[in-house]
Amino acid sequence: MQTVTERFLRYVSYDTQADLNSETCPSTPSQKVLGQLLVEEMQAMGIADAHMDENGYVYGTVPGDPSLPTIGLIGHMDTSPDASGANIKARIVDYQGGDICLNQEQDIWLREADYASLKRNRGKHLIVTDGTTLLGADDKAGVAEIMAAAEFLMTARCNHATLKIGFTPDEEIGRGADLFDVKGFGADYAYTVDGGAIGEIEYENFNGAWANLEFHGLNIHPGSAKNKMINSQYLAMEFNSLLPAAQKPEHTEGYEGFIHLLGMQGSVEKTTMRYIVRDHDLAKFEEKKALIRAAADFINAKYGEGRCSLTLTDTYFNMKQCIEPVMYIVERAKRAMVAVGMDAHEVPIRGGTDGARLSYEGLPCPNLCTGGENYHGRFEYIPVEDMELCTKMLVEILTNAV
Ligand SMILES: [Zn+2]
Repeated sequence: MQTVTERFLRYVSYDTQADLNSETCPSTPSQKVLGQLLVEEMQAMGIADAHMDENGYVYGTVPGDPSLPTIGLIGHMDTSPDASGANIKARIVDYQGGDICLNQEQDIWLREADYASLKRNRGKHLIVTDGTTLLGADDKAGVAEIMAAAEFLMTARCNHATLKIGFTPDEEIGRGADLFDVKGFGADYAYTVDGGAIGEIEYENFNGAWANLEFHGLNIHPGSAKNKMINSQYLAMEFNSLLPAAQKPEHTEGYEGFIHLLGMQGSVEKTTMRYIVRDHDLAKFEEKKALIRAAADFINAKYGEGRCSLTLTDTYFNMKQCIEPVMYIVERAKRAMVAVGMDAHEVPIRGGTDGARLSYEGLPCPNLCTGGENYHGRFEYIPVEDMELCTKMLVEILTNAV
């Protein structure tokens, strides 16, 4: 048997960064290279039906007691486009407290003052980066933990539920559930293993939408522009000034939603802005979208119809309403957490998950912890001990699934 850490270190050596600008599935071909490795490893464990489909989704079954419910575990193979996922130089630090020098040459430090989670991870072995790339614990820790749990169940002589394994591409760019074969997967319910600190279970996520805006100006030589030029960049700035200043990610937490400007690009003639809208509460979510519509209408009323065009697209909804009727699946996971010594607690996700989409497609799918910290950035790290604990938690869910 391989340790979950050995698996993890192998998987992060594959660069599987997702690419929002690609229209293929998976968005980057390297994801299929990792997918193929996972298929081969599953086959080596004796998982007979392990396979990858043409879109890069990997599936496999660990057969179990047919009188028990069939439980799915889902992880994603891609990493975030927010930070480089190539040439990851993972290193294990025996952490006794204080700041960690990630990179002597470039003087990059993981500091206790910046990352409070370090305090509770004293005395553990932390897998860190060299400060120049992300680590990829999101979600290769989840993938490694699922694989380690599967290997354990394949060799264990204990009674357990049938495990359905699913590894998706492109979760980080919101497409992980797009081509997931819910029917073929055949689980009664599932968990994504894609969360953070140990003990966390999540079944409430944001409602999410895109707001894409285009502002159309009129360019003319600035020397003769009086009463003629319309600078689309000013329209865009005025639009943004109409949005509530406090409803931004940097000023919100917990159940507070936000409107977030992801990117803008402008010239006198044309400016585009791309926002995301997020709120757990459906009514407040609709209010935020209404504010954006009203701001766009204001610009058009003030400067003329067509100066601002808005496209609002819903991306996902809060899975809470799909999970509430089957709360026993949350309770089962919490019992497993407590059984392996975790302090189980529910946290609202300030994001979306593949699980939210799958829940709406009929596969209830809360999200479980992996142990990772500081996702999507160069200061990402994960304690070895927590990965081991999460693996035990997954085994516990499968073996004590009554
Ligand atoms: Zn993730």
